[in-house]
Amino acid sequence: MSVDDPTQGNNSWTVANSAALYGLDRWGEPYFSTNARGHVLVQPRGDRGGSLDLVELVQELQSRSLNLPLLIRFDDILEDRLERLHGAFEHAIAQYGYSGRYQGVFPVKCNQQRHVVEQLVESGRRWHFGLEAGSKAELLIALSLVNDPEALLICNGYKDQRYIETAILARRLGRQPVVVIEQPDEVERIIRSSREIGAAPIIGVRAKLTTRSTGRWGSSVGEHAKFGLSVPDLLSTVEALREADLLGDLRLMHFHIGSQINDIAVLKDALQEAGQLYVELTKLGAPMGYLDVGGGLGVDYDGSRTASAASTNYTLQNYANDVVATVRECCEPHGIDMPILVSESGRAIASHFSILVFDVLGAGAVPGIVPKQTEDEPLTVRNLRETLAVIMATANGPDADGSYLQEAWNDAVKFKDDALAAFRLGYMSLPERVMAEQLTWACAEAIMSRLVCSTTIPDDLRDLKAVLASTYYANLSIFRSAPDTWAIEQLFPIMPIHRLNEEPTRLGHFADLTCDSDGKLARFIGDGQSKPLLELHNLHKGEAYMIGMFLGGAYQEVMGNLHNLFGSTNAVHIRLAPGGGYQVDHVVRGNTNSDVLKAMEHNPELLLERLRIASEVAIQQGELKINDACRLMDHLEASLRQTTYLQ
Ligand SMILES: *Cc1c(COP(=O)(O)O)cnc(C)c1O
Repeated sequence: MSVDDPTQGNNSWTVANSAALYGLDRWGEPYFSTNARGHVLVQPRGDRGGSLDLVELVQELQSRSLNLPLLIRFDDILEDRLERLHGAFEHAIAQYGYSGRYQGVFPVKCNQQRHVVEQLVESGRRWHFGLEAGSKAELLIALSLVNDPEALLICNGYKDQRYIETAILARRLGRQPVVVIEQPDEVERIIRSSREIGAAPIIGVRAKLTTRSTGRWGSSVGEHAKFGLSVPDLLSTVEALREADLLGDLRLMHFHIGSQINDIAVLKDALQEAGQLYVELTKLGAPMGYLDVGGGLGVDYDGSRTASAASTNYTLQNYANDVVATVRECCEPHGIDMPILVSESGRAIASHFSILVFDVLGAGAVPGIVPKQTEDEPLTVRNLRETLAVIMATANGPDADGSYLQEAWNDAVKFKDDALAAFRLGYMSLPERVMAEQLTWACAEAIMSRLVCSTTIPDDLRDLKAVLASTYYANLSIFRSAPDTWAIEQLFPIMPIHRLNEEPTRLGHFADLTCDSDGKLARFIGDGQSKPLLELHNLHKGEAYMIGMFLGGAYQEVMGNLHNLFGSTNAVHIRLAPGGGYQVDHVVRGNTNSDVLKAMEHNPELLLERLRIASEVAIQQGELKINDACRLMDHLEASLRQTTYLQ
């Protein structure tokens, strides 16, 4: 016997309900929506036409033995982001009669993957889009990949002599590296290098603003910020450059007030302060010409359009308008030429283009089983049975009597606690305890089914759905693929990519493959605020349940680590094909078990050899049959060649 199933769901459920439930119609614009089949639909070129059924795409990639978890990168989205960014600035420049232009760079630290950076460089060529580097390795990427003499290469981060000399000498290759002075002592190094080589770099200065951003990165600016020159340092830097006859090479002022600026008011303050500093630097005799407003352009992860941590209270166009208008207001009264505007938007360019798709291996669901009645059942078990009978006798549907059900649930909880106490004291056997637990969950499910369409749900019963929540086991390591969900509690849109025309009747959260209790996804986009449980579907036997994590193209791959030795996932680059459909531009195979072992200095062959020897000994001792030994070695060898995830 089984209680009537509250998880049957509502027959009138549509994909529109799902889009609203998961917030897809808010954060998905203009790249993600749903189709009539109940699948997520990807429009890689936004509203300019062309779409792909994400589920079909995943299935076709799987048939090329690209197993889940799979990172799907849509290069068209990357290009579209660039177009929108440039479009917004062009629009603002025209609207405010700004006499300078916009020329952006991509901060490589946001996603250094070769194919990603190459794609950005190629797509950005028509705007002379450049790169920003913060280390020697990133500088090498920037110098090597950008061969457009008009594109800027902004060199941030701490710099030693070799770094600076590399930047000076690379100018002879027709590159435009700008050495941004972050620390007072870098001035000395720049002067020394310039003397030795007999040529100067293009020099920039990073100003430490007093304007504080709100949110997570708020403390990354202000007087105690890690980077940038304070106002006195700025002045002495100018004087030192003047003395060394290098002031004529000071061309750029840079500031960065932290990532994911939530509140446009903060940006405006920073822009005013920076604009005035720029004017003053010009008055001090530096030629200048570039104002670099850094990164920080935010992404509306939850689609709420608010100044909350997972959102922004402005659009891309608002951002561009404010940059252009404020800088103009600063320069005009002083008769100073309006600078070329540079921005280093990373998150806003790279977040949207990749989707992480993972499968669910199983769910620790609460079983909807009513145990068979036996003779001599303990009192608590009988009590629970009676409670269940009372609930079943209550009318189903809108007339369900909330107060009655509330009382029944209180009873059930009490009886379950009694049963636990009896078990602890040795008066109840394990099978009896199992019965008590099963009956309690059966009561909860029966109550739920009666409350489905009831309008008057008592408060305590509202939480019943959470009591019945399940853990969904995800074929994924959040430490590898979504580290910010753990490190800084970042919220990403997470939702099933199929069955969207079916009501999700369960509540659950995800546990990942790592043996770490922090390895879970348990914060989801809610209405107004985040929620700990997500509406999910019952699993169907033998049928994959696929979940997508969206907007994670920035920082996640790079910051991910090898916790528990789970390595990178398979990744593919997809483009809409000219004649319809799609093409797979690149396949980047995920780390194999052999790769991750080597990363920890192990020698996979040696590990294998030791086990081979051990199995020979076991064969000799009659503990292991030869074909079992073969089978064991087979599994071990195959694993070394495969990705670290479950197949
Ligand atoms: C990280 C960083 C950026 C990128 O910031 P986003 O918020 O991703 O746009 C830009 N400039 C500097 C100096 C940075 O450190």
